[in-house]
Amino acid sequence: MKLYLTLTCFIISTVLTAQTDQRIYDIIDAVSADRIEKDIATLAGFGTRHTLSDTVSKTRGIGAARRWIKSEFEAISKDCNNCLNVFYQKDLVEKGTNQRIVKDVMVVNVVAVQKGTKYPNSYIIMSGDIDSRVSDPTDYTSDSPGANDNASGMAGAIEAARVLSKYTFEHSVVYLGLSGEEQGLFGGKGFAAYAKENNWDIIGVLNNDMIGNITGVDGVIDNRSFRIFSEPVPPTETERQRNARRFYGGEVDGISRQLARYVHNTVETYMPEMNPMMIYRLDRFGRGGHHRPFNDAGYPGIRIMEAHENYTQQHQDIRTEDGIEYGDKLKFVNFDYAKKLTAVNAITMASLAWAPPSPKDVGIGGIVEPSAKLEWSKVNDAKGYKIYWRDTTSPTWDHSRYVDDVTTFTLEGIVIDNFFFGVSAVGEKGHESVVVFPNKIIR
Ligand SMILES: [Zn+2]
Repeated sequence: MKLYLTLTCFIISTVLTAQTDQRIYDIIDAVSADRIEKDIATLAGFGTRHTLSDTVSKTRGIGAARRWIKSEFEAISKDCNNCLNVFYQKDLVEKGTNQRIVKDVMVVNVVAVQKGTKYPNSYIIMSGDIDSRVSDPTDYTSDSPGANDNASGMAGAIEAARVLSKYTFEHSVVYLGLSGEEQGLFGGKGFAAYAKENNWDIIGVLNNDMIGNITGVDGVIDNRSFRIFSEPVPPTETERQRNARRFYGGEVDGISRQLARYVHNTVETYMPEMNPMMIYRLDRFGRGGHHRPFNDAGYPGIRIMEAHENYTQQHQDIRTEDGIEYGDKLKFVNFDYAKKLTAVNAITMASLAWAPPSPKDVGIGGIVEPSAKLEWSKVNDAKGYKIYWRDTTSPTWDHSRYVDDVTTFTLEGIVIDNFFFGVSAVGEKGHESVVVFPNKIIR
């Protein structure tokens, strides 16, 4: 009897460790709402962080703000044996490039790279924005605390660096502060070009823009829901790929959408109290964010943000009108919620950075057959693979089957016409790559 019990416990514990990694729970616990509050307060305290604002002052303007962000990353790096490579990446944007660039400006991003041990050229990026604005997008002198938009995302990236720098990863992890967002997404455009020039392999960009508001302008208060915006297919696809989609599917299965599903799945596994909302669009209706320039360059990128926005606080001059307090002030930010969304980013990055790379090619076949066949290119460090499928109307990968070290598998009794399929690579500790939608047909 005793032996039986011990054996049962042993079996249960192996099953559990195969499914989840304790380190991921530790990462969630390590994210601090107090430090996020302090950092948002510091950023809001620079008066304005408008992209065209003062760069000389030590206390006011975007120059002071970016120097402080850089020094924070450097302090974090000092604490981890110089595990971060911290630098500025910048581009000159000339007056008149658009109506919001009313003078020449150096758009300066702050970058902190934690190099991966196995795949140093493979990057997972968390971004926030440095810059802020008020009602008039060209007003670069008025007070513009931008506490939620977007000191919250920036503070989240700094806090993620503090927490994740205590670990080593196989892929590289990047903590990124972007500028020029409100003037026309210039920082993201510049950084995506930098990544292209340096042949970066980007697993994904998690763009955080407004992760601290829980009281919606609609009156809803909700500290558990958040949105994951992702475009359906990349804008860089070829005419041939577009045509192929008509016959083989993939209208809602682009690389950014798979990244969004990865975030969703990771949160469901490790933060079941949260309510992640998959939004099937690039961004809010007619509005923009800094993941878009990465998408334009062909990289997977998504936007993570609060579920309920408050428009009396975004992009507003600080004032009171008809009893309504306008402006993006510190007191409207919910730091516990910003902490949760920061944890969402941190666990997604850790899972991806500990996982093997995705299989490069995935083929599928099964036309006029009672079963679907998949084959994929071998991933050297994979322990096995997970084949996923779902109803054609489902937003998430609802069914899966783990297979050991093989590179082809037939799902008996699963008719290809009625489902969508994908394959991920699984590592030693159970961490998985992003799912790859088939890009080849087996005849
Ligand atoms: Zn904004």
